[in-house]
Amino acid sequence: MQETQPRISETTTLIVERESQGSHLLRDATAHVRAAAKRLGLDDGLLQVIETPEREINVALPVEMDDGTIHVFKGYRVQHSRLLGPAKGGFRYHPDVDIDEVRGLASLMTWKCSLLNLPYGGAKGGVSVDPTRLSTSEQARLTRAYAAALAPFIGSRVDVPAPDVNTNDKTMGWFLDEYERVTGTYDPAVVTGKPIALGGSEGRGESTGRGVALTAKLMLARVGIPLDEARIVVQGYGKVGFDAVRFLEEAGCKIVAISDVSGGLYNPDGLDIARINEHVANHPKRLLEGYIGEDAEPISNADILLLNCDALIPAALEGQITGANAAFVRARIIVEGANGPTTSEADPILASRGVLVVPDILANAGGVVVSYFEWLQGLQGQRWTLADVRERLDTMMTDAFNTVVVRADAEGITLRQAAFLIALERVAIAAQLRWHVAARS
Ligand code: NAD
Repeated sequence: MQETQPRISETTTLIVERESQGSHLLRDATAHVRAAAKRLGLDDGLLQVIETPEREINVALPVEMDDGTIHVFKGYRVQHSRLLGPAKGGFRYHPDVDIDEVRGLASLMTWKCSLLNLPYGGAKGGVSVDPTRLSTSEQARLTRAYAAALAPFIGSRVDVPAPDVNTNDKTMGWFLDEYERVTGTYDPAVVTGKPIALGGSEGRGESTGRGVALTAKLMLARVGIPLDEARIVVQGYGKVGFDAVRFLEEAGCKIVAISDVSGGLYNPDGLDIARINEHVANHPKRLLEGYIGEDAEPISNADILLLNCDALIPAALEGQITGANAAFVRARIIVEGANGPTTSEADPILASRGVLVVPDILANAGGVVVSYFEWLQGLQGQRWTLADVRERLDTMMTDAFNTVVVRADAEGITLRQAAFLIALERVAIAAQLRWHVAARS
């Protein structure tokens, strides 16, 4: 082998080779859908059509590393459903990514898109990798390998990826460029969450946090807590948590605790968010770590979930509020910024204690709504203003919120049960019309 050729590495430390550990996301999504199907009296065969992922793609991604070695990463894409339109969903780079996690997240996208009445099915993707161990150029090559491997299976009318955990607008720019290179097309609507200069939308970056803040405000109003008296706790200070805090603070709420992977900060009288943001902006990894101030005391990520507050917003990871800690949650409402932060064991415990949960498929849908706006702009060669995007987003989120609340009240069920009922019903009608079978037994 010539010296200039990439060498196959003898070590495989960057390849995450392990058996699937399963995922509570998949298990819980299935449980919520089956409960909704039972309530709707859905035909078993039709439910199978709806539940079974349409297509699952496993890809090997050989990437030349900066030191000349080659590593092969495992990538996945699950197109769960295209009954309502092209499959839609992000892809993430994380060591825990496996096929079950991607399946669960893809299924959630189907219900989220349906609930928001978007002309989309659901998908999700991911690569099993620790991106903090890759240089920027290695991340670019990995993204290009992933885009090239998926190119035959995606498209603006087939499956439209977007950013998720550890992927961002820069990732989408590389992805778009590689897709257009291998297909020989110009097709900006094939991905969303792109840089604005490559056809991204104004307001996409803030959209999930804005939607989380909006649903929190709507829910606070519903339980009669004035915004200027509301005490908010946010776990996770990344893309979602940061903007949720920004919009809630703007609305007059008191942010009493926030946290990130490095730990949390707490002040029952309200944190000095501007000062904390200055610290984060100057931290090399943009973390809360090392923040010193008399205005805040440290708090762990486990304890932050149990603080006395009006709204708790888990905006970091899945599986945070579980059968083990749900009985100790003292929040009046929970607004799920993250995907799957509450397990199905926690749900009945919270409900029995009167804790109201705004489910992820509603609360964090702002991102996919503005992705839809970006897709429309891409297909039509249009550019919308930030004011347009915000107004349309707020209208769609408010409509979805009201629809869920009305259904929950009418049937005496939780907001999550109502959200899954509405989402499944729409998909079932589409499936029935396509399959010419009875939707109800
Ligand atoms: P991100 O990577 O930008 O931020 C994640 C945050 O969680 C960071 O502050 C990180 O430090 C923190 N964190 C990581 N591990 C933690 C731990 N063990 N304890 C406490 N905090 C921890 O990711 P994001 O885009 O903000 O996504 C957060 C969640 O929201 C994920 O579940 C994601 O799937 C979901 N979500 C994101 C979007 C979006 O548009 N970004 C849309 C819908 C749902």
